[in-house]
Amino acid sequence: MTRWEDCPLAMALATNKHKPVVKALFQSHRRPYLHAMRPDELLCPRPEGLYCPPGGFHIDPVRPVERALITHGHADHARAGHGHVLATAETLDIMAIRYGEDHAGSTQVAALGETLIIDGVAVRFHPAGHVLGSAQIAVGRGGLRIVASGDYKPRPDPTCASFEPVDCDVFITEATFGLPVFRHPDAGDEISRLLGSVGANPDRAHLVGAYSLGKAQRVIRLLRDAGYDQPIYIHGALKRLCDYYESQGIALGELRPATVETGGKGDFAGAVVLGPPSAFGDKWARRFPDPLISFASGWMMVRQRARQRGVELPLVISDHADWDELTATITAIAPEEVWVTHGREEALVRWCEMNGTRARPLHMVGYEDEAE
Ligand SMILES: [Zn+2]
Repeated sequence: MTRWEDCPLAMALATNKHKPVVKALFQSHRRPYLHAMRPDELLCPRPEGLYCPPGGFHIDPVRPVERALITHGHADHARAGHGHVLATAETLDIMAIRYGEDHAGSTQVAALGETLIIDGVAVRFHPAGHVLGSAQIAVGRGGLRIVASGDYKPRPDPTCASFEPVDCDVFITEATFGLPVFRHPDAGDEISRLLGSVGANPDRAHLVGAYSLGKAQRVIRLLRDAGYDQPIYIHGALKRLCDYYESQGIALGELRPATVETGGKGDFAGAVVLGPPSAFGDKWARRFPDPLISFASGWMMVRQRARQRGVELPLVISDHADWDELTATITAIAPEEVWVTHGREEALVRWCEMNGTRARPLHMVGYEDEAE
């Protein structure tokens, strides 16, 4: 696995010194925007997802297709029922855990950094820093290169390989948090707030809502990195993916099932309990002593959302790029053109245009932010 310290962009973003790195990294690679092929002849938005006509494949299709290239295992990007799936080994494992081994007619592993040729189209997967196994997909032909980044975040995450900027003519980006109001704080500081609350409320169970793929394991790993060595209790819906992360070398420490069978109410006093957000509305949440409801999500920047969900301790921990990271990434890659797939598209398109980069929204439907 790549350490984030080895990634120049991650380092640059972490130290807020990205401008000199931009030059060093990319100046020598820039190519004139003169190609035999137009970008939308190589990749174009279709109702099923991004489609590559010469390669005959879709990227992250929302409906079953013959050939699918999948960026990562979140349910809005990875769906069951395709004829053939090409993805990283981890994404294929995650799809098998969620949908069963027979989720596709056949599967093929894409190794990061390895070029595959599909009907004359060069395809290469690069790490996206979003969740375990997440990848950007670079598609090239006739000197033209387009990178579909899927969901991504450039900041360090101890549970997955770091985002890698890829030189390209067209950069396809999400914009889940594509407004200047979205600036995510340091995740370690948010975990410190959680631990501070645990220390100050020893009689209460801290129930932390975290999506089952990626966010839950990241929160657990961050707790361990902060020195928290108590058992952490998890809802049954998190178990298989936590086990899978462990099997891939992401140590999560002692995890115990958060079930009534294993303990009476008092046993959870002072404990940290993780569950999927969907479990917080049902009776599962009410079995804990005087529960303190927390939620780890980029949406916790929006106070109204926290209030609507009855969240007492909002933790702003996101697996997506925030506004500064979106714009710094585009600045660093310096593509000729930016396509924005989903999220708050208009503000990012406008920012690109104001900064001299052609940009357009793709208005792609079906990519919800449930995973956040
Ligand atoms: Zn995702």
